[in-house]
Amino acid sequence: MPELPEVEVVRRGLERWVAHRTVADAEVLHPRAVRRHIAGADDFAHRLKGHRIGVPSRRGKYLWLPLEDTGQSILAHLGMSGQLLVQPHTAPDEKHLRIRVRFADTLGTELRFVDQRTFGGLSLHDNTPDGLPDVIAHIARDPLDALFDDEAFHQALRRKRTTIKRALLDQSLISGVGNIYADEALWRARLHYDRLTATFTRPRSLELLGHVRDVMNAALAVGGTSFDSLYVNVNGESGYFDRSLDAYGREGLPCKRCGTPMRRRPWMNRSSYFCPKCQRAPRVSS
Ligand SMILES: [Zn+2]
Repeated sequence: MPELPEVEVVRRGLERWVAHRTVADAEVLHPRAVRRHIAGADDFAHRLKGHRIGVPSRRGKYLWLPLEDTGQSILAHLGMSGQLLVQPHTAPDEKHLRIRVRFADTLGTELRFVDQRTFGGLSLHDNTPDGLPDVIAHIARDPLDALFDDEAFHQALRRKRTTIKRALLDQSLISGVGNIYADEALWRARLHYDRLTATFTRPRSLELLGHVRDVMNAALAVGGTSFDSLYVNVNGESGYFDRSLDAYGREGLPCKRCGTPMRRRPWMNRSSYFCPKCQRAPRVSS
């Protein structure tokens, strides 16, 4: 799954190439790509037609395009392999093209949703008063959101009987932090993933939040260089901005801080990468 920085790069690309354009028509080439739109493909296409797209928004890993004057938004589910491409009309159709959106202007480009494995898709939803698609109203603000409340996050950590990596991946507490950037931030903060959050002091919580923001901004800085071209893209795992990774995927390699071989442990059907010296396991594991 793409993580927040990857999705933000796509959002910026869409803001540049798709915002404020009016939909001429939408063509659904594979019904699975709109299966989350319960009323079906024809209804989906009908509701887009003639409406202007507002400024694309994001919360955590969720990305949506507001449809002006409708009170609705198009929510993009990128899944494992979903891509949003802005392509010239003349470009040949991609093999796995699922949805095409044409615009009523002369810019010569169209928006394409391409998805090899069809886990992703697009769907229309009513907006909440905050302008969020209603199906993601329960998702917490992400740490790059100017309105994210650091103190409330710290207090929530103190109240919860959980461990720190679980808390970082809890979308009702903080959104947009996935497995990769959680490992990166924990390595920078020298915290083991199994630490109990109830013991966290305010400085420890705030320092960790700072590292979460740093790893995401570093990834954005790397990925942000590629969206200048006429191409908006999210790949699967291979598309990650992996140049900046210090922990994730580095099993057996020396810790970049102390040289100790990094370890990998199974964790909730995934993996956790950590330095056994810099990130000491808590004495009583939960
Ligand atoms: Zn180390």
